Amino acid sequence: MVELRNVSVTYSNGVDALHDVTLKINDGEFAFVVGKSGAGKSTLIKLLLKEISPNSGKITVNGFDLEKLKKSKAHKLRRTIGFVFQDFKLINTMNVYDNVAFVLRSIDAPLKYIRNRVPYVISLVGLKDRVRSYPTELSGGEQQRVALARALVNDPQLIIADEPTGNLDPNTSIEIIELLKAINNCGTTVMMVTHEHELVRRFGGRTINIENGRITFDDYIGYTE
Ligand code: ADP
Repeated sequence: MVELRNVSVTYSNGVDALHDVTLKINDGEFAFVVGKSGAGKSTLIKLLLKEISPNSGKITVNGFDLEKLKKSKAHKLRRTIGFVFQDFKLINTMNVYDNVAFVLRSIDAPLKYIRNRVPYVISLVGLKDRVRSYPTELSGGEQQRVALARALVNDPQLIIADEPTGNLDPNTSIEIIELLKAINNCGTTVMMVTHEHELVRRFGGRTINIENGRITFDDYIGYTE
C-alpha cells in the first residue's frame, strides 16, 4: 500500500517538484501515474524508496512510516518493492538465470529456495527457453521480461515500473503492460509511471495525472478499444 498525505517537495534550488500531494494506492491495485517530463514523477518514486524526504506531509509504503524509518534501515522498505527501469539495467556478463538469481544471492537466500524460485519466475514471464541466454542475445521486450522476473523474484508487495515501455516498440509495450497486469492479477500491487498517455488510454483503469507537481486527475478511465 502506498499513501501520501499532503506531501510537498521543494528542492534546494527552490523548485517545487511536488505540491500538497495526497494519494492512496491500495494493496492489489494497478495504477498508472502519468505526466510530462518535469511533472514530478521521479520525485514521487524517490520519495517512495526513501531516497529523498519530503519537506512536509506523511508517507506510508507497505506498512513503513517513512518519517520514522531510519535511512540506515531503508533497505528493509526497498526489499518489499520490485523496481523496473526504462533501460532494464541487466548485468550483461550474466545470463538470464544469474541476473534473476543475483537478487536472492545478495540477500543470502537459501540455495534450495533460489533453485526453485528463479526458474519459476523466469517461466512466469515467458522466458523458460532463454534461461541460459545473455542480455545482448535478447530483444528489448525479452530484456524487460528478465527485468520483471528480477523485480518479482523476491515476492515484493509492490512493483514500481518507471517508464518500463520507454525503450520498446508499441506492440512490445502492450505485451509488457499485459504482463504487469497478469502479475497484478496474482495480487502484487503495481504502480506504472509513464508519459505515454495513449498507451494508458488503451488499457484504462486507475490513472493518476501529475502536472507541475500537482495531482490533476485521479480516477478510473475506460478502455478505448
Ligand atoms: P519527471 O520525473 O516527471 O520528469 P522530476 O520529478 O524529475 O519530474 O522533476 C520535477 C521538477 O523538479 C522539475 O522541474 C525538475 O527540474 C526538478 N528537479 C528534479 N530533481 C531535482 C534536483 N535534484 N534538484 C533540483 N531540481 C530538481
